[in-house]
This record gives sequence, C-alpha cells and structure tokens, in this order.
Amino acid sequence: MPTEIFAPGFKSRPWWWEAAEPPDRDNALPRQTRVAVVGGGYAGLSAALTLRRLGHEVVVLDAERIGWGASSRNGGMVSGGLKVARGPLTQRYGEARAKEIMAACGGSFPFIEETIAREGIDCDYKRVGRFVGAWTPKHYRVLEAGAARIAEMSGLPTTMIPRERQREFIGTDHYFGGMHAEATGSLHPGKYARGLAAAAERAGATLVDGVRVTRIEKNIVYTDQGELHAEQVLTATNGYSLDKRGTANPWFARRMVPLASYIIATEELDPALIEKLFPKLRMMSDTKLVLNYFRPSPDGRRVLWGGRASFAQETPEQAAPRLYDTMCDVFPELRGVKLTHAWNGNVAFTFDYLPHIGRQDDIFYAGGCQGSGVAMATWLGHNVALKMAGAANAPFALDDLPFPTRPFYNGAPWFLPIVGNWYRLKDRLERAAA
Ligand SMILES: Cc1cc2nc3c(=O)[nH]c(=O)nc-3n(C[C@H](O)[C@H](O)[C@H](O)COP(=O)(O)OP(=O)(O)OC[C@H]3O[C@@H](n4cnc5c(N)ncnc54)[C@H](O)[C@@H]3O)c2cc1C
Repeated sequence: MPTEIFAPGFKSRPWWWEAAEPPDRDNALPRQTRVAVVGGGYAGLSAALTLRRLGHEVVVLDAERIGWGASSRNGGMVSGGLKVARGPLTQRYGEARAKEIMAACGGSFPFIEETIAREGIDCDYKRVGRFVGAWTPKHYRVLEAGAARIAEMSGLPTTMIPRERQREFIGTDHYFGGMHAEATGSLHPGKYARGLAAAAERAGATLVDGVRVTRIEKNIVYTDQGELHAEQVLTATNGYSLDKRGTANPWFARRMVPLASYIIATEELDPALIEKLFPKLRMMSDTKLVLNYFRPSPDGRRVLWGGRASFAQETPEQAAPRLYDTMCDVFPELRGVKLTHAWNGNVAFTFDYLPHIGRQDDIFYAGGCQGSGVAMATWLGHNVALKMAGAANAPFALDDLPFPTRPFYNGAPWFLPIVGNWYRLKDRLERAAA
C-alpha cells in the first residue's frame, strides 16, 4: 500500500463532513402519522418537504443519520438527466415517449435551483457548467450526436469543444476534445443535505434517525424500535436498500443495483494551479465506461476526484491509490500531492437505466438515479409526494413505468465484479485503438 500518498492525519470519511457532518437527532419514534418516509436522503427529504407544504403530516426515518447515505457523500455535481439523455431512449421507447421521459428528467435541474433559492439553502451552489471529456475520437462523435438532445432537454446550450480548444476548458490534453454543457451546477452536498433537512423540519416534518425499518405491511412500518402506523409509506432507500441486516422493501431492493462510488480529496493546493486545471472552476467528467468525475472544492483549494475505483467490496484506503493514479494520468502536475480524505458511498442503478417513482403493493417508491441524483433524487421526491397527495396536475413520465428486475436477483449484485472487469477491458481496448 503506497502510504506516501496519504497526508498525516488522513481520514477515511467524506471531506464534506468537515463542514457539514450529518448531525444526530434525538427525536423519539412517533406511533402514528399520515405519511412515513423510509430513507432520509435527498429523495425522502424532498418528498417530506413537498408533503408538508401540501399540509400532510410526515415522519422521515433513517437507519443511520438523516443525510448519512449518498446524499452527504457525493461529488456535488448538479445536472439534470445528462446520463438519461445520452442513453438509448428512442430505440427502447420510441420518439414520442423518449421525449416525454427526457422532459421529465430535464425538469430536475430548474427544480433544484428553485428549491435552493426558495428555501434559502446555504450550500455553495453555483451554475458553473460541466466539461465531459471524450475518451476516444469515437466517443467525441457520440457526444456530438447527443449534444442537441441535451440542449433541448435542459433548455441551456451545449457546445462541442474540439481537442485544439480543450485547454480553454480543462488543463490537460488527455481527452479527444469534449462537450461543455451549461446546465450543470456545483454545490456542497453535505450542506445541501443539512439545508434540505432543515427546510423539511421548518415546514413541520419530523425527522427521526437511528431507526431501521425491517418490514412494511399495509399501514404498519415495523422498525427495530417498534411500530409506526401510517396511511401511506414511501421507500426512498436507493443504493442502501439492502444490507446484511435485510431490507425494508424486498420488491424495491430487487430493482436497485447498488454500486460503490469512491472519492479522494487532495490537501490544499495553490489556487492558481486549480484554476489552471479547472478553468472557471467547472465540473468535469469523462465518457469512460468506468467513469471519472472530478471537480475543485467549493473554496477552489482542493481537487476532489471520484470514480468507480472498485466493483468489489474495498475500503476507501484500498481504492485510493487507483483513483490517485488515474487523477495523475489526467493531471500529471498533481503527482506528489497528498490526500487528506477518501471515502465511498452507494449509488443505485436500475436494469433499464432510468430513475423511477411509483407505487407497488400500496407502498410508494422513488429512486434509481444511475449515480446522478443530486438534482434527480430531489425531483423524484417532489414528484412522488405530489402523487401521494393526489396533487399532481400533469402526468410525470417516470411514474409507474415498467420496472424490471432479473430472475433470482435479490438486491445483492454478485455480477458487478464481472461487469466491472469487462468495462475496464473495453475502456483499455477502445483507447488503444483510438
Ligand atoms: C460517492 C458518490 C458520488 C456521487 N456523485 C454525484 C454527483 O456528483 N452528482 C450527482 O448528481 N449525483 C451523485 N451521486 C449520486 C447521488 O448522491 C444520489 O443519487 C442521491 O444522493 C440519492 O439520494 P437518495 O435520497 O435517493 O438516497 P441516499 O441519500 O443514499 O439515502 C438513502 C437512505 O436510506 C437509509 N436507509 C436504507 N435502508 C433503510 C431502512 N431499512 N430503514 C431506514 N433507513 C434506511 C440510508 O441510511 C440512507 O441514509 C453520487 C453518489 C455517491 C455515493
């Protein structure tokens, strides 16, 4: 283990938690409520906020702390459905349905901007744009073919950046050009989780942490601390839907494919270097199957580098050297800098690569943001809340779509190491042929 990459005092926990660690709450579990929400991430909190604004009593339960999951660990890159727009929607659903789905996803970006402004959430939000680097010339052409669709979906421009102009957008020659999408912002995910929780509480929601839901049956939510009776229940457990202790909702867990995503944070660096690598402090990602996503910290002093460093169960310390090497391949100037933090969290993919809301066996659900859920989970929570309250005044295209699973799949993705190795090999072969 190359310990020389770790700074003295290195911590294996989110750098975001230095400023905004999810707090402990000592609210007691009520016995009765109108709506119970299982999972206190962006989806559950956003649902609670909307339900309260519509006058419904809500209790949010989290097995750990409110905001403890992906919602306080992510990269803080805010975009609305970029990944959905790049997928094969039209082939699968036909032109008209694909357009409706994209419009539904596109709503997430303005909605999160509006939520942050309306609730006065102090989370370092800025609309900065994102550069997506093409791993091969072919990927550049694929980006180009989809750019208009993203612009149409978001209502904000996308611009193709050929390799000759790349350094105006990113301080490297590593990519074969790329796409710049204006519909992307950056925020501090820990502060956003904390602010959304505070907004839900201000609106009158009760947030209870340290309560694990073990089963949901009709109107009874069974927990490790007793029962909660509710007229309606929402499952918003996303990439944490199943663990060794079980699941609150087996039907939902069978449709979530949890995948660990890892991030490293460097020590404080010269802001001039950061500005050179990340002109205008933009968000960055690339088109590799084993994706990299990277950004400057909100104060412009550190590099935060994220990726699917491991498809097996690895600790952040074990995964960090691989992320570090990839970071230095893209930005050789960073070789030698130290890491102060490394962490991971679970995202949730679905078998049709789409986010979903809906209702099954009288239990509502929202989730499956394909690792791009800062805006989307907030938006899904809002939309499922409208559905629960009977207050949706227009159809939402992600509502009650067919929601596939696979035979014998219980929510534990044993196949990920195999898929991951294939993706790594494919990335390497494509690059070698480029
Ligand atoms: C490392 C990482 C980087 C990411 N980067 C980005 C990014 O840059 N941009 C972007 O858009 N998205 C990103 N994402 C994805 C984004 O963070 C998620 O899509 C989003 O936070 C999901 O929110 P959620 O509310 O659905 O789930 P979560 O925030 O994961 O919340 C689920 C909660 O459910 C609780 N729970 C589970 N089971 C139970 C139970 N039985 N009883 C009670 N509670 C339970 C868990 O404790 C957890 O707190 C990233 C994710 C990770 C992990």
